[in-house]
Amino acid sequence: MLIEQQQLTDFVTEIFTTAGSTEVVAREVADHLVWANMKGHDSHGVGMIPTYVHNIGVGHLKQDAHAEIVKDNGAVLLIDGQFGFGQVVGREATDIALERAKNTGIVCAGVRNCHHLGRIGTYGEVCGSAGFVSVHFVNVVGHEPQVSPWGGRDRRMSTNPFCCVVPRPDAMPIVLDMATSAVALGKVRVAHMKGEAVAEGCLVDHEGLPTTDASVMYEVPFGALGPFGKHKGYGLAVMCELLGGGLAGEWTAQPGRERNNNVVNNMLMFVLDPNVFDGIDAFNEEVREMVAYLHSTTPASGFDKVRIPGEPERESVVERLDAGIPIDNNSWAGIVAAAGHAGMSEQRITEMTG
Ligand code: NAD
Repeated sequence: MLIEQQQLTDFVTEIFTTAGSTEVVAREVADHLVWANMKGHDSHGVGMIPTYVHNIGVGHLKQDAHAEIVKDNGAVLLIDGQFGFGQVVGREATDIALERAKNTGIVCAGVRNCHHLGRIGTYGEVCGSAGFVSVHFVNVVGHEPQVSPWGGRDRRMSTNPFCCVVPRPDAMPIVLDMATSAVALGKVRVAHMKGEAVAEGCLVDHEGLPTTDASVMYEVPFGALGPFGKHKGYGLAVMCELLGGGLAGEWTAQPGRERNNNVVNNMLMFVLDPNVFDGIDAFNEEVREMVAYLHSTTPASGFDKVRIPGEPERESVVERLDAGIPIDNNSWAGIVAAAGHAGMSEQRITEMTG
């Protein structure tokens, strides 16, 4: 099915208000999720709703929790998300870090105990739009790991996202925002829902053999999702685990820590005013000229053009504003069932989505 952005946002907002969230919180979560779909990341969009509604029901996700500063050393902050909606506590932590960086030039913020932060680029974009550089190392805990180390077949970590954003005065920020697994797990989930194959080189089965069958992530005997970029992507994933998880969160995927089917993100975030060195003009000029140079590259065979990070998402927004957001039938059925579990009547669901 195809659904229009505003209609979907209103429906998702009502799912969460029915589940007990305030209107403000529900709308922020809905906006974040629907914008992830708009940007082409269905893995981190409304398909997450069944997980969120389940986690509210079992008490993993605290709908009224807010980010709280637990340690304040000026340019170094420790912030606790208190298991609130990541979309809310992650944005609040980013606002706190950004406000502080306006005085200190740089902030390093540890942000721990956030329920699923969703699309990490959202927080980078908050910084980039305010004219700041940001870097985010994130780990994912609270459940069994899914990603194997390079050279292994057993699961040891999750999809540990990394994000880095560069602002531009006259254009949208440059946003590198990615899972450190070969693909985001949500993309394997979407492929599984659609009955489609996952790209080659992403998954191994329980014997460590390459496969494109998404079911190895959901049915025993389990296989694993591999890291992107061989040993280099694996290395970055380890740093997300140790810095986002170990340092900021004091919670890594090691088996001594809690695994109760929750989805918790910990993040180490750096926010930097690019004006701290010799002034902003030289930096802006270098960014502008370098981006133009990259764009001037002749495309290789099979490519239409060369892009910079963040452009595919903007192209997706233009496309989906026009065509609507595509949602596969299985994912939609899961969302509608979750709306029912949250307490929405069938009649109300039909009114809002029919
Ligand atoms: P992806 O592979 O689609 O894109 C990764 C990055 O590459 C993006 O910055 C994109 O702009 C850039 N890119 C893509 N194609 C490009 C091209 N042709 N030229 C230049 N740049 C290009 O993203 P992904 O790895 O599937 O991650 C999807 C989302 O999942 C991200 O938003 C991430 O934050 C999120 N995520 C969240 C969690 C979590 O626990 N909260 C975990 C994993 C991933």
